[in-house]
Amino acid sequence: MPQGRHAHVLLARGGEVIEDLFPGVTGELVADGAVVSHPLADFRFCAGGHTLRQVPIGATMLQCTRPFLEGHLRDRVLALPGLTPADRCDVVGLTLDDDRRRVAGVRVVHGRDASTEETLTADLVVDATGRAGRTPVWLRALGLPRPREEEFAVSVGYASRLMRLPRDYAEREKAIAVGPVPNLPRGLALLEVEGGRHLVTLAGFESRHHPPGDHDGFVEFAATVSPPDVLDAIRRAEPLGDIATYRYQSSVRRHYQELPDLPDGLLVTGDALCSFNPIYGQGMTLAAMQASTLRDSLAQGAPGLTRRFFQAASRTVDDAWNLGVGADLALPQFRARRTLSTRLTSAYTRQVQAAGAVDDQVARQFVRVTHLLDPPDRLLRPSLAWRVLRARTAGLGRRRRVPRLTSPGR
Ligand SMILES: Cc1cc2nc3c(=O)[nH]c(=O)nc-3n(C[C@H](O)[C@H](O)[C@H](O)COP(=O)(O)OP(=O)(O)OC[C@H]3O[C@@H](n4cnc5c(N)ncnc54)[C@H](O)[C@@H]3O)c2cc1C
Repeated sequence: MPQGRHAHVLLARGGEVIEDLFPGVTGELVADGAVVSHPLADFRFCAGGHTLRQVPIGATMLQCTRPFLEGHLRDRVLALPGLTPADRCDVVGLTLDDDRRRVAGVRVVHGRDASTEETLTADLVVDATGRAGRTPVWLRALGLPRPREEEFAVSVGYASRLMRLPRDYAEREKAIAVGPVPNLPRGLALLEVEGGRHLVTLAGFESRHHPPGDHDGFVEFAATVSPPDVLDAIRRAEPLGDIATYRYQSSVRRHYQELPDLPDGLLVTGDALCSFNPIYGQGMTLAAMQASTLRDSLAQGAPGLTRRFFQAASRTVDDAWNLGVGADLALPQFRARRTLSTRLTSAYTRQVQAAGAVDDQVARQFVRVTHLLDPPDRLLRPSLAWRVLRARTAGLGRRRRVPRLTSPGR
């Protein structure tokens, strides 16, 4: 899958949910080489131009490449009793039962030329086909309404490369993430992954900030976002393979929970339900949370399953969607209309990030929220707001200096 070559941060909450769904899988991943890190203690995070205090947040994170994680989870799924995978085929449509109230199965084509079509019968169909999720098209083909779609144009460009970093740097910390700031909408993630390697991902909003795919351009772009020690490590690193690039145009949320007459037995999950701006690392965690929601919804029996699932899944998406879109709107590059509440939230978040550079508790709480361990309203508790205010009045938590760009493209 095209996104598989880019850094995939599995948020602490995502790791917890995956372990709950597949008990023991964390141990297997670690035994096979996944790296355990402690955000923020050995995972440096520069948010809104401020390097947060490097304190433990009471949770750990797993670091590995996406294919490595996916391979382990796939092995676990395939080991389930009674499961027969149908590889190398495309779902092209849904079928309904005679009174058109329930899904009866899916239409599937096999082979390169899609010459063979068959219908697989099913009691339950879960569309987990990713961002391109075709359920709206399939519903329309059946004469049924499509869900309302919320789309937020972000135009994020990615460039990533596996590297072997010099030992003196690699032994110091396990990861660093640098987020975009208003006058430099670029970011960097550098993760230690399995095999003693590091995955370096650069990202930028708007085409003139999209990172290039050639070696010199990659390093030049890295120089605009990396702290000096990280840039020095990237310059001295041994590249492992070529640079992969990716363009992501928009975040998309589909509101199936609003459709009163969806056929029973039809569910949509993961990116097909909501595709988040990847820069905030939420997608896999939300997909895992929805798998957990599906398990809980199924435990309550088949009647009303579709409605129950979509309502619960929509609630899991709400906080993450609002956090992501809120962070996007804090950047002036996005020309969307900002309500008063959005402007106040952006302003307060900037103060939280600044305070997180000097106050351990603020840093800890902010990162627990971004890792979806705690709800966003924890940041509004009076005791925390007081600490934020105190840091502000003390005039602490100054921003890192943002370098001037020498040429508009890089
Ligand atoms: C550049 C980039 C960086 C990202 N970084 C992060 C990150 O740091 N952290 C994070 O959590 N998330 C990240 N994400 C998001 C993450 O990749 C997705 O949220 C996650 O993969 C969603 O999982 P999914 O199973 O819904 O879809 P996918 O992983 O896209 O899987 C969909 C599957 O369905 C198959 N399929 C599609 N159509 C059909 C069909 N008609 N019939 C049969 N099969 C079909 C596809 O082949 C694919 O195997 C990133 C995304 C991008 C683009």
